Amino acid sequence: MEDSEIEEKRAKALRYADQPDRFSLVNLKFEMRSNHGVRQVEYADESWRCVCEFYLKTSTCSHILAVQQILRKAGLLT
Ligand SMILES: [Zn+2]
Repeated sequence: MEDSEIEEKRAKALRYADQPDRFSLVNLKFEMRSNHGVRQVEYADESWRCVCEFYLKTSTCSHILAVQQILRKAGLLT
C-alpha cells in the first residue's frame, strides 16, 4: 500500500471517528485489576458479565459499572 493510500485511510478514519452513530457495541472484553484480584468484564449478546461473586448474586457489580463509566466518558456508551 502506498503512503498516499494510507493517508487517505487515516483521513477517512478521522471522519468516521467524528460520527459515533456509525458504530455499535457488539462485544468487548476488559481485564481489570480490582482491590481483590483480576476481574474479567465482558459485553456480549447484549449484556454485561463479570467473574466476581457480587455479580453472580446481583447481575451487576462495581467492575461493570466502572467499565460503563469509562465508555460513557469516551462517548462510546449513552
Ligand atoms: Zn465484578
